[in-house]
Amino acid sequence: MADPSNRIDIRDVTPAGTFSAWLRHTRQVLSSDVGAGVPCGDCTACCTSSYYVYVRPDETRTRARIPEAHLVSLPRLPPGYLAMGWDENGHCPMLQDGVCSIYQDRPQTCRDFDCRVFPATDIQPVDKPQIAAQAARWRFDYAAPHDLDDHAAVRAAASFLREHADAFTSWAIPTNPNLLAVLAIKASAAFEEAPDRASRESPAEVARAVVAAVRQFDTTV
Ligand code: SF4
Repeated sequence: MADPSNRIDIRDVTPAGTFSAWLRHTRQVLSSDVGAGVPCGDCTACCTSSYYVYVRPDETRTRARIPEAHLVSLPRLPPGYLAMGWDENGHCPMLQDGVCSIYQDRPQTCRDFDCRVFPATDIQPVDKPQIAAQAARWRFDYAAPHDLDDHAAVRAAASFLREHADAFTSWAIPTNPNLLAVLAIKASAAFEEAPDRASRESPAEVARAVVAAVRQFDTTV
C-alpha cells in the first residue's frame, strides 16, 4: 500500500502554464528585463530562503530604496554589482510583515526568479525546503505535442549537465541548482531534435553541441 503521506493533495497543485509557452517566456526573461511574472500568490518562499539578491549598478531606484547597510559587495560579482543578504531568520530585510516593502522597486533578480525552473528541469533546490515545497506544487500543461517535446529537451539538457560535467573541458558546470537549471534551459536547444542524443553520441560530442547552443543563446540576447 502506498504511503498516504506521499499523496499529493489536489489543493496543493498550482497550474504552471503550458510548458512551451512557459519555456518561450523564460528564455525571454533570461535575455531581457521583462520579468518572469510568476503567479506567486501569497508565497514568499524565495524571500525567506537565505538567498543573496543581486542588484545591478543601473538599478538606481532600487538602490535608493534599500538601506546601504543591507548592500554588500561579494567576490565574483560583476563590476558595480552589490548583493543584499538575509536576516537571522533567513528573510530578506526588505520583507516586512510578510510583504515586500519595496515591491514596485524590487531588484530585477527578484522579478526574474522563477521556481518553476526546478520542476521543468527535475533539479532539486538543495537546502531550500520552502522553495522545494513550492516547486513541487507546480503542474505544467501539455496541450500540444510540442509541449512534451520541449519538456523532454529541457530534461535531457539538465540530465546531461548533471551527469557529464566532466565532459566540458573549458567550462565549470555550476553546482548551484538555480544556475544549473538556468543553464539547462539555455542548452535545451541542443536536444530539441534528439532528446536521446546522449545515448547515441559521445559525451564530448554532446558537450560541444551544448556549448554551441548556450553560446548561440547568449549571443542572440
Ligand atoms: S526585495 Fe522584496 S521581492 Fe526581493 S527578496 Fe526582498 S522581499 Fe522578496
